[in-house]
Amino acid sequence: MLAQSVNEDNALLIMENIIKLYCKKIEHGKKRQRVFHIIEKMGFDKFKSLCNAIMTYFIRFFDSFKGAYKMADKSTGVSITILLPAGRLPLDVMKATQDLAEKYNFGIYLSLSQNLRLINVPESEVKKIKEKLTALGADFKGPGKFPLPRICVGKPHCSLGMVDTEKLSRNILARFSKKEKTKAKFKIAISGCPVCCSWIKNTDISIAADSDGYTVYAGGKGGPKPRTAKKIKINATEDEVLDIVETLINFHDKKTKTKQRMYKLIDDPDFPFSAV
Ligand code: SF4
Repeated sequence: MLAQSVNEDNALLIMENIIKLYCKKIEHGKKRQRVFHIIEKMGFDKFKSLCNAIMTYFIRFFDSFKGAYKMADKSTGVSITILLPAGRLPLDVMKATQDLAEKYNFGIYLSLSQNLRLINVPESEVKKIKEKLTALGADFKGPGKFPLPRICVGKPHCSLGMVDTEKLSRNILARFSKKEKTKAKFKIAISGCPVCCSWIKNTDISIAADSDGYTVYAGGKGGPKPRTAKKIKINATEDEVLDIVETLINFHDKKTKTKQRMYKLIDDPDFPFSAV
């Protein structure tokens, strides 16, 4: 059945997309030429069977994923992420979370974004659990929410700290967290000195304190292809930092349909800052 479904047109398309995915070094305009070159070398019939084999492989691959997801759904329940501004965990929320975890037999994971993720939560109990935690002031991760800055512990808890990172995080959230429907998916990070323990340079918007004020960076990212952020401002005051963050957020909002990392905008001719 699959063999009949691959005709001349979609065979070309399949191969062109594979070349797009795996042969990034080939110039865009030359990718189709490369497909024709492959056809010329092997003949169209062989080329068609190759496309069939590739399609069969991908279909099996995605089917095995679907199976794995179904198994995970059945065996693990769902997750709830409690947002913890500046990584601070209120004691009453901590106590209630432990009580709930014991009662409903779920796990607790300290996430890399400094939040508390409840894992393996029975789906039937989510409403009750959220109500109990909401009554204590807990807020939950959800679409359209402004990202909480990831921060290092800073002053006065670290001997190298030059600023109170919790205070700066609070001031950023006070100014922007009411913003309706923040478009995903940029992140913010703050470090209390140039050592950058909170991996700020791999973050979309990042702020590091030093002896002359703040240095601001933009366009970093982690993941399988990490990028180091560009330095866009040095010796900034806290008010200037907040204004820069606002400019970046507005620019991101204007140029983004639903979600986009900041690095994709950094070379846009209208990007509001130059590297310093
Ligand atoms: S970045 Fe600096 S202030 Fe923050 S934890 Fe690391 S050493 Fe301390």
